[in-house]
Amino acid sequence: MDVLSRAAAGERLSASEILELYQLPLPEVAAVAHELRLRRSNPQVVTYLIDRNINYTNICNVACNFCAFYRTRRQSDAYVLSFEEIGHKIEELMQIGGRRILMQGGVNPDLPFEWYLELLRYLKRHYPEVRIDAFSPEEILGLEKITGRDCRELLVALKEAGLDGLPGAGGEILVDEVRAKAAPARIKSGDWFRILDTAQSLGLYTIATMVIGFGETYEQRVAHLLQIREQQDKALRAYGQGFAAFAMWTLQTEHTRLKGKAPGATAHEYLQQLAIARIALDNLPNLQASWPSMGFKVAQAALYYGANDFGSTMLEENVVSVAAGHNRTHATVRQIVRHIADAGFIPAERDPYYNIKQYPDVQAILNEKPPVALPLA
Ligand code: SF4
Repeated sequence: MDVLSRAAAGERLSASEILELYQLPLPEVAAVAHELRLRRSNPQVVTYLIDRNINYTNICNVACNFCAFYRTRRQSDAYVLSFEEIGHKIEELMQIGGRRILMQGGVNPDLPFEWYLELLRYLKRHYPEVRIDAFSPEEILGLEKITGRDCRELLVALKEAGLDGLPGAGGEILVDEVRAKAAPARIKSGDWFRILDTAQSLGLYTIATMVIGFGETYEQRVAHLLQIREQQDKALRAYGQGFAAFAMWTLQTEHTRLKGKAPGATAHEYLQQLAIARIALDNLPNLQASWPSMGFKVAQAALYYGANDFGSTMLEENVVSVAAGHNRTHATVRQIVRHIADAGFIPAERDPYYNIKQYPDVQAILNEKPPVALPLA
């Protein structure tokens, strides 16, 4: 049986078989990826989440070459948000019906661990209905260095203070050779898995991520996917829960030190990689399309290349957008619903675990006048 027939039959592909997929015509690979997506998740529905990104500080001592977001503490536009400012952003999210924040920042050496605990307690006290997925593995690693305590101890304390889950940011390509060139001080792949595995063992929410376009080889991309698949097998077996989803996007280098030095990835490469991820990750049912990096139109096409989810409203995406040199910082529910419905699927609002919360009235949303601006501070 050839590799695509084996994939279509639901068989698990080996590293060399996944590698073969890069040499096949994309429409054929996409057809199998889409078939698998229809089987592994509700075939008529494409989901989305109403949420908000909050970047509590832009001060960071990791200095990744691909990052245009971070500042040193001496730069005039360096900031740390106050608890009240973060609370105000949550109130804006609640006004549009959102109940989840994704909160990440730089690795700020001036913030003690107690600050994080106090922040979580403050937010849970004032907004008990809002779930908090916060602090990527890089930030947890930074806290290990500041406190001298290991991630299990830190995550237990953060969970007690109100943390619901971790973002999977910092995955990029989980091969240290690639990471060392793009960001020498970046978290190593072993630490990324160690921290997320610990989070999963504690019942915290996690997702897996991937970024392509560093100039990585296909072999390195496959190595990334197989490590994710292995961790998912392990987590499901040992803890009964693993990554809730897989999110993939393309490297953006505008305003970064990698500009002109890394190739990035085209729409074709993005769609190819997404389709291959869908085939390779047979234990992960939810794959997101990436409108922040690819725009709404390619994200819409991604719904036929393996994605079953349109991501989230974000409201304030500051990291990908600044490195991309565009201002695509948020999506309205209307934009998301329109692109899903227009692609031939039923839009459904979900929670972070992909449980459907409601089916919006598509016609009523499409008949609304597009908002002139979001009510953001
Ligand atoms: S990507 Fe994250 S860790 Fe790297 S420099 Fe930017 S804020 Fe810091």
